[in-house]
Amino acid sequence: MHIFAIANQKGGVGKTTTSVNLAAALAQSGKRTLLVDLDPQGNATMGSGVDKRELRRSVYQLLVGLVALGDARLTSPTAGYDILPANRDLAGAEVEMVQLDCRENRLRDALARHADDYDFVLIDCPPSLSMLTLNGLCAAHGVVIPMQCEYYALEGLSDLVNTIKRVHASFNRELKVIGLLRVMYDPRSTLSNQVSAQLEEHFGDKVFRTVVPRNVRLAEAPSYGMPGVLFDKSSKGAQAYLAFAAEMIERVQTWKE
Ligand code: ADP
Ligand code: MG
Repeated sequence: MHIFAIANQKGGVGKTTTSVNLAAALAQSGKRTLLVDLDPQGNATMGSGVDKRELRRSVYQLLVGLVALGDARLTSPTAGYDILPANRDLAGAEVEMVQLDCRENRLRDALARHADDYDFVLIDCPPSLSMLTLNGLCAAHGVVIPMQCEYYALEGLSDLVNTIKRVHASFNRELKVIGLLRVMYDPRSTLSNQVSAQLEEHFGDKVFRTVVPRNVRLAEAPSYGMPGVLFDKSSKGAQAYLAFAAEMIERVQTWKE
């Protein structure tokens, strides 16, 4: 089981779009996949065709110890992968977990009990470096960082990389940056091209080959409760996420050798 956190403390940079589409593309490739929605906004939940307003159980109850993973997960009716759904209840977990033992390892421990159930677990992190994100980073083997190729993206990146280093040192020796994924890319923008080249220069093969273009079909898909890769498979955005899933599968295979 490979566990990846999709993280970036900035909002609106494509974390949820990446999580949902990568999960769907992996499931399409026959991989047993679990998507964990760790954001109280519940966008990954809605984008998977699960109504966040009608949850009986969610990742919140799991984190505070009220239910087991097996009782909290659902299967996405549109995309076939499993999901640990979230809604606004999760915002309270932050405060409640402060009193719990091993609070940063709640998710890791829950997943460890289901290590044989999945090939891939993707964790859609909230836009902060909070206790929720810390749970995501403590549970993960690696971090996938989606980023827009704009000037301020690089500034935020060093904060995130430092956080990952601290978590690695104090909590999770397995944690590493798997890669940076360029998203919402506009090839006609000079700035995009410059930032993209800078990323390749500084981070080398930590930058994924796949580049996800800005594509309106990816943005339309969530309102149909569907990942873009299923909503319009032939769109440029869908094709990019299918290629990204293939790249991820290829990467994890080379680790085993
Ligand atoms: P985050 O989870 O980091 O806050 P989202 O994945 O929700 O970011 O993306 C923010 C917004 O941008 C959403 O409205 C989403 O539909 C849109 N979006 C994300 N990726 C793309 C893309 N490649 N092309 C067009 N719109 C995108
Ligand atoms: Mg999100």
